[in-house]
Amino acid sequence: MSGYADFAAYVAELNDLLCTMNILTWDVRTQMPPEGSWTRGQQLATLTRLVQERFASDHMGRLLDAAEAEVRGEDADSYRVRAVRSTRDAYTIVRRVPAALVGELAVQRAVGQRVWEEAKPANDFARFAPNLKAMVGLSRELADAIGYEAHPYDALLLQYEPDMSAARLTALFDDLKAGILPLLKRIVDGGQPVAADFLYRTYPAAQQRAFALEIARQFGYDLQRGRVDASAHPFEISFTRQDVRMTTRYQENYMPGAVFGLFHETGHALYEQGVDPALTRSALTSDFLGQYAVGGVSFGTHESQSRLWENQIGRSRSFWQLHFARLQSYFPEQLAGVDVEQFYRSVNRVRPSLIRVEADEVTYNLHIMLRVEIEMGLLDGSIAVDDLSELWRAKMTEYLGVVPPTDTEGVLQDIHWSSAQFGTFPAYTIGNVMSAQFMQAARRDVAGLDDELAAGNYTPLREWLTANIYRHGRAFSPEELLQRTTGEGLTPRPYLAYLREKYD
Ligand code: ZN
Repeated sequence: MSGYADFAAYVAELNDLLCTMNILTWDVRTQMPPEGSWTRGQQLATLTRLVQERFASDHMGRLLDAAEAEVRGEDADSYRVRAVRSTRDAYTIVRRVPAALVGELAVQRAVGQRVWEEAKPANDFARFAPNLKAMVGLSRELADAIGYEAHPYDALLLQYEPDMSAARLTALFDDLKAGILPLLKRIVDGGQPVAADFLYRTYPAAQQRAFALEIARQFGYDLQRGRVDASAHPFEISFTRQDVRMTTRYQENYMPGAVFGLFHETGHALYEQGVDPALTRSALTSDFLGQYAVGGVSFGTHESQSRLWENQIGRSRSFWQLHFARLQSYFPEQLAGVDVEQFYRSVNRVRPSLIRVEADEVTYNLHIMLRVEIEMGLLDGSIAVDDLSELWRAKMTEYLGVVPPTDTEGVLQDIHWSSAQFGTFPAYTIGNVMSAQFMQAARRDVAGLDDELAAGNYTPLREWLTANIYRHGRAFSPEELLQRTTGEGLTPRPYLAYLREKYD
């Protein structure tokens, strides 16, 4: 065996363990009976520890040394070089974090989530505050251990968005606010109410599933390498490109939730199913920092694909001009008397609202900015946990002009902080911004793309995305992918142009 082959064989086993953890996680969220949770927690903890010990071992260090020696001088963009380099980067960071801190964070996450689950429905932020303080403290320790130059948030972002920093995010948000806030004001001031009562009629789940799955398959989702289940929170998860699953949540009295939810997860799934088969069980389909088996390069890049298929395609006028009749055939009574333009407008309504996950395309990013600004302040100590409830209301007033009457609909609404996931919120906005950049590049490269899309031929777009993004797995950073496909780095211009053209 050569140095690289030994390295690859060891990584392949780690990838097997990560995929097994994903299977157990999928089962937790879709099938597991309630009483299974304690022992399942032990099983996942054992596997997590095994992966950690094996990955952070001296043995891995020697394998990396030998692999580096072997690939030296090879094409810097080759998968071999990239696999070794990304593993070395993760190895260096993981070795900096003390095992005791990892353990303490895991315990606090489990406790924090349980307390949050009680505090949220009880509208009792004070109950959750001590846990949140503990997690902020441990996250600061984590940032110090990982290391950073300008801002502790930069160290946490490294785990999810390798090219991003607090300073870059702040600049991006300033540009977005300058475009979105005046646009939102124009929409709110000039808005005639959009009829949407028909969306809330009774829509049987079986037909919702049939329609959404029909579209997912037209987008290119391969059911020979996937399946779709129901769950309380929709998600996509993969155990190699050969088995990529997704879920959605059916609400019988609100049809768009499950339908657009499945379009969204289909975007994530197409990314995973589109990874080059040569990368199966490799470092380029393993996230050793976050300990996931995953083919996408960052949270934001993954989100760019879910948002591209859900919003840029699935919420477009031409999409519904083609597919509305089909939807009506599933729901002839519910949608009787509704025309395609009414339907298109109803699923693109813009209204400032309290809840992030229910927000429209225009207001969504404002919800994210508020959260990220708070996260940065918590990490650098300029914001105190005890002030959050108040601060949340002030920022909601400033950005959206609505004030949550309770913390349940305010600072307690999201699950992320209950498990110290500081640094994951930016992915949603980065995903929106990247999705518009990728669409612009695809239109430039693929002649007649919009005609093909209007005719329901999604193959040219999916093939362009596969060739430029999906197949590379984690080989290129988000910034490199953008540079290679669009010729420039992350910029909000195409996204703001998209919003203005659609909503102004
Ligand atoms: Zn998503």
